[in-house]
Amino acid sequence: MIAKGNVTIGLETRFGPDWPGVRCGARTKAGDKCQRPAVKRTGKCNRHGGKSTGPRTQAGRDKIAALHTTHGRLTKEKRQAAKTRAEVGRKVRAEIKEIESSLIEQGLLCRSWRQNWKL
Ligand SMILES: [Zn+2]
Repeated sequence: MIAKGNVTIGLETRFGPDWPGVRCGARTKAGDKCQRPAVKRTGKCNRHGGKSTGPRTQAGRDKIAALHTTHGRLTKEKRQAAKTRAEVGRKVRAEIKEIESSLIEQGLLCRSWRQNWKL
């Protein structure tokens, strides 16, 4: 608010440039951040989805999931399968290492067998 003599001009706002609260980080068409005061829960203003609570019904959730799925390589099932494969691989490698060290201990395998080994 600007005061000129005994007249005040403009609207008083508590969200001026010095306001210390959280501001909306949504990208605008101009490429800057929105900077409007954010809704605390989401960190976005109510123009940029701050008031949205997301899909409520299973149909809505499925629709969003379908829209966000590009190739299906990172679905929950695929990630779980990859984790399981990695775990199996770690176990197999540990077992091979154990067998190798026991064979070296018994003198059946040379310590540098990997370098000298040919098909
Ligand atoms: Zn915004």
